[in-house]
Parts: sequence; C-alpha cells; structure tokens
Amino acid sequence: MTRQFAVLVVGGGPVGVVTALACAQRGFRVTLLEAEDKVDASPRAATTHPSTLEIIAGLGLFQRFVAEGLVARHFQFWDRVTRTLICEFDHDVLRDETPYPFVVQTEQHKLANLGIEELRGHTDCAVHFSTRVTNLEQDADGVQVFAQGPDGPRKFGAHWVVGADGGRSTVRKLLGIEFEGYTWPERFIVLTTTDDFQRVLGCCYRSYFADPVEWTNLFKVTGDDYKGRWRAVFPTRADETDEEALSDTAVRARMGRVLPSAENFAVVHRNLYKVHQRVAANFRKGRVFLAGDAAHVNNPIGGLGLNCGIHDALELAETLRAVALEGVDAGLLDRYEHRRRPLNIQYVQEQTIANKKRLEERDPHARVARFAELRAIAADPERHKQFLMRTSLIESVRKVH
Ligand SMILES: Cc1cc2nc3c(=O)[nH]c(=O)nc-3n(C[C@H](O)[C@H](O)[C@H](O)COP(=O)(O)OP(=O)(O)OC[C@H]3O[C@@H](n4cnc5c(N)ncnc54)[C@H](O)[C@@H]3O)c2cc1C
Repeated sequence: MTRQFAVLVVGGGPVGVVTALACAQRGFRVTLLEAEDKVDASPRAATTHPSTLEIIAGLGLFQRFVAEGLVARHFQFWDRVTRTLICEFDHDVLRDETPYPFVVQTEQHKLANLGIEELRGHTDCAVHFSTRVTNLEQDADGVQVFAQGPDGPRKFGAHWVVGADGGRSTVRKLLGIEFEGYTWPERFIVLTTTDDFQRVLGCCYRSYFADPVEWTNLFKVTGDDYKGRWRAVFPTRADETDEEALSDTAVRARMGRVLPSAENFAVVHRNLYKVHQRVAANFRKGRVFLAGDAAHVNNPIGGLGLNCGIHDALELAETLRAVALEGVDAGLLDRYEHRRRPLNIQYVQEQTIANKKRLEERDPHARVARFAELRAIAADPERHKQFLMRTSLIESVRKVH
C-alpha cells in the first residue's frame, strides 16, 4: 500500500539523511535530493554525544555506528604552552542518566552512508544524487520542488519539505530567511595525520589545548581504512591567506608547535573552513522547514553543531508524524521553531563561543583563573556531572520534555 504523506528532504548530509530515515521509519514517503554525486567525506564532525547516540540507537544504527568509530569515554583540557594536562572529564559519571555514557568518534560521512543504506530498504523512499534543488513553490496543499538532475530539470512534489542543505542553504535563501549572526575573522585549519598524538603526548582521543597565541584540538578517528587518524584543528591568523595557511611551511610549523617531534608527522589531508555563529531568523515557512546547518552554524569547538542538527531532525520527524499521521492540530508545527531555535542559541551558540574563549584566553590572570575553575569543576563530582550534562546536550533534551 502506498504511503499517504510525502516528505522531501533537500541535502544528503548527515542531518538530511537522519531526517529522511526518521520520516521513513514513521511511515512517510520520502525523497532525498543531494546536489553532489556522493556524500561529502571532508573531515568535519566526528564527536557524537550521548544524547545523539540515543537517537542513533532509536534509528537502529547504533551497533554499526560504533563499529565504524572509536569510543571516547574521556576528554581532556591541556595547557599547550607548558604541555601539561589541566584536567580530564569522564562521561561515565552520566551512567545513571543515559545508556551511552561516552562519546563516539565516527566521521559524519559514515553516518550519512549508513543512513542512506538503511533508507534504501524502505518502500516508497528514493535517494537522488547529482540533483540540485533550484526553486520551490508552495500552496495550502503541498510544495513543488524544482531541481537540476543528471539528465536535466526535474520537478518533485511533497506535502512537506525539509531544507537540510547546509550552511549556504539554497532553501533558506529561497524562503528569504535571514541568517543572523557573524563570521569569525580567522578560519580553522584541520590537519589529518596517520601518526599518533596519544603515543607521543599521552593525550586522549579528544583533547583541547589552550594557548593565547594559537590553540589546538586533537581528535582521533578511525579513518576509512580503520587504521586510525588524528585530526589537529588550529585557528589561522586573521590576516593569513588560504594559500599561506595551507603551505607546507605553515603546516609543518603548526604541527611543530603542538610537539617538536610532530614536525615530521605525515600530514595526509589539510582542510580550511570558514567559521560562523549564525542562526536562521525562522526555522519554518509554511510547509518548508530548516534543519541542521541550514538553520544554525557555529564554531566546532565542543563538537555540537551536527549533534544539535540531529536533534532537530528527530524533533521534526516526530512533529510531522503527530500532525500528518495522528491528526494532531497543525498548530503543533510552530513548536519546532519555538523549541529548536532558543535551544540552539542557549546550548550550542553560547557553549561554542565560551569554549573558544576558554582556549584562546590572552590575559594571563584570566588564563590561570580559567584553568583553576576547570580543575575545580573536574574535581567536584556534582559539578563534573553538571558540566557533562550540558556539554553532552542531555540538559537541552531534558529541557524540552
Ligand atoms: C572542522 C569541523 C569539525 C566539526 N566537528 C563537529 C563535531 O565533532 N561534532 C558536531 O556535532 N559538529 C561538528 N561540526 C559541524 C558539522 O560538520 C556540521 O554541523 C554538519 O556537517 C551539518 O550537517 P548538515 O547535514 O546539516 O549539513 P552538511 O553536512 O553541510 O550537508 C548539506 C548537504 O546538502 C547538499 N546541498 C547543498 N545545496 C543543495 C541543493 N541546492 N540541493 C541539494 N543538495 C544540496 C550538500 O551537497 C551537502 O551534502 C564540525 C564542523 C567543522 C567544519
């Protein structure tokens, strides 16, 4: 029997795929349109927090997701200047709050690919790559979506559309929605190496290094060959050109400032990102919604952007199910924006801005005070847990229910 209601998702990134799968599992016909010919595999999100692991488990993907990545129970703050550990946090203190008291480091393209594989097993669900959405028209009954496909222009129809087409969202622009906020003057550079920071430095899989001149974050992921990769994230100087930042000299110098012996680390990828703190003025216009980076972008320190996007995806799928399939009043559709927008501002924008400030603090007294505060939080079991409730977004989820 054909499913009655149709959802069309624009963007085959992790948020679009999770939205599409969650809608398919709830009984919608689903069409997923992705502009590129495959899922983007550039090194971006990997850190997946407990609250998001609960969602991934609900989608039936948890075992495969963990098998593709690394379990990271701890994270650490370091002083890069003296190369000393400031303190360590342990997610295990959340064991009474979540079945998943740890972070999983799985690259975001693996989640998107797992989700697409699962989606293809559902009836009435289609995934179209190389299909770029160019226009939308909506009326009281549905939305017409116009796209440029591999064989020319195409038109799709749906009852609801979700724009999960990333920070430069075409859907958001077509809806005329402002992307309020700002762009940082520096960019972030991600250097990927096959060498092992844990072996040479003794740091754990998620380690944040404060430095008034140039902070660094180190993360381990498995890589596509499962042999293990470390990603080192640094800010560029505001006046540094892309070419300069990506040059061998600058790359070697940056690695060398983390650890002198790292100068000779084999850098297998170098990627530059513009970094923003922006939130869409609205997350919905009529039958069209925004989710993930299309709705909000932030600096990646703390690993919150995609996590929040996946939370959007679930809330949206649940809201559409209630209205379309359970006959709840359509007024419920307003709740999505009324909840998700303030939660993003309070938990993601505020935390990521604070995380950046903490790592780049220049005032020597304030630096010492920040380190002392972190040590005090880590040493106090109650504060340690409260800190992790917030950083893992469990607090934001609880606020909703
Ligand atoms: C260096 C770095 C590290 C990060 N680390 C973390 C982390 O550890 N944890 C975390 O939570 N977040 C992290 N983030 C943020 C995370 O990468 C993003 O939040 C995430 O990619 C958002 O997913 P998305 O699906 O909303 O958008 P995207 O991943 O940008 O996907 C959007 C998709 O839409 C497609 N598209 C665009 N326009 C169209 C169109 N017109 N028609 C059809 N398709 C279209 C694009 O091709 C793309 O595939 C990090 C970001 C960076 C830069």
